[in-house]
Amino acid sequence: QTEQWQTLSRQHHLAPFTDYQALNRKGARIITKASGVYLWDSEGHKILDGMAGLWCVNVGYGREELVEAAAAQMRELPYYNLFFQTAHPPALELAQEIAQLAPEGLDHVFFTGSGSEANDTVLRMVRHYWATLGQPDKQVVIGRWNGYHGSTIAGASLGGMKGMHAQGGLPIPGIEHIDQPYWYGEGGDMTPEDFGVWAAEQLEKKILDVGEGRVAAFIAEPIQGAGGVIVPPDSYWPKVREILAKYDILFVADEVICGFGRTGEWFGSQYYDLKPDLMPIAKGLTSGYIPMGGVVVHERVVKVLDRGGEFAHGFTYSGHPVAAAVALANIRLLKREGIVTQVKTQTAPYLQQRWRELAEHPLVGEARGVGLVAAIELVKNKETRERYSGLEVGMRCREHCFANGLVMRAVGDTMIIAPPLVINKEEIDELIDKARTCLDLTVRE
Ligand code: PLP
Repeated sequence: QTEQWQTLSRQHHLAPFTDYQALNRKGARIITKASGVYLWDSEGHKILDGMAGLWCVNVGYGREELVEAAAAQMRELPYYNLFFQTAHPPALELAQEIAQLAPEGLDHVFFTGSGSEANDTVLRMVRHYWATLGQPDKQVVIGRWNGYHGSTIAGASLGGMKGMHAQGGLPIPGIEHIDQPYWYGEGGDMTPEDFGVWAAEQLEKKILDVGEGRVAAFIAEPIQGAGGVIVPPDSYWPKVREILAKYDILFVADEVICGFGRTGEWFGSQYYDLKPDLMPIAKGLTSGYIPMGGVVVHERVVKVLDRGGEFAHGFTYSGHPVAAAVALANIRLLKREGIVTQVKTQTAPYLQQRWRELAEHPLVGEARGVGLVAAIELVKNKETRERYSGLEVGMRCREHCFANGLVMRAVGDTMIIAPPLVINKEEIDELIDKARTCLDLTVRE
């Protein structure tokens, strides 16, 4: 059976973010079912999903009430659009629910089908906002190198993945990037606090380079996820906020990963007290059970959009009623089981404490994390932070993890976890034990 699936993969499927030659050589790993925090592959192996899929299955797998919400909504109203002055109850109730959880003032939601579409929406919305205010020259958006904001042309342009930019001539015009606040990799001799201020000041330099009156918005993830779980020094966000206020620039906090409990708060913006103007969301909004995204928008932005005539933007599946019903069921479940509070008070402190034990391993230069997202840096020399060259140590570690029943993600030499928020202490112990075994296997090679 496995071979049949692998043949289909070779013959008919073009997978996302995949080296096709490597895939065809090895064959795809076929995942067939899941429950709680575990996956099973077609060979019957049980695997602890340390990544909650792609950072999204916040309530864990196999939640019947999400399934029932989808089925009930499909029977009642399987589809209708939100275009041309129409609406339907699930989208409206969901918008209210999100507004109640979001930081104060972020009280409207524009729905999309994914996080990438949310960031396309952001780009058009912030440009439309400044044009409506009579400042049509304020069009440039600043993102960060190694940031990830999706795979559409605008999403990939706002992101700072150089490999993505190299394919397809990105970024599109009007998008600039600054460095990430990656102290372990780039902080040199600076203390984390000094480095945080220095990294934030790069934003001011860029604003002045671009021209004060030309910058519409700054977009950033509260904790950079796909770029390697870059946890900013404490000094970083306060300084960034100060600079954005000084130059009257909109702040877009991309909550696609950090949203819906990942940090132990509903949104990463609450964890860091960011007070953004716009928040793209997706992933944990539905715990990945069905695709959905959106942009949560502050009332001060909405007031301007209200004056701007038709906002000529939207998707067939904006606010899809079935997706909205699943999102509502997902949020109600997160609330009823107190999962976000549980992360903050129990699970995250335990996971982070145990995760930091890995820093004692000879291969690990740093262990860091917030809430239920964490990373370790693999190094050859802990003192000098020297890396292994050319051996793809992260990829090897990732393969050992899979073979030993654990999903960990490799970003270069950084290993990452972001498990379902419902992971319990025993499962955390299992995750740490398996991670340590895989580090041992990697270092022995
Ligand atoms: N923004 C962030 C921070 C993400 O991590 C992702 C996906 O990983 C996206 C946006 C894009 O979301 P999607 O894959 O749903 O288009």
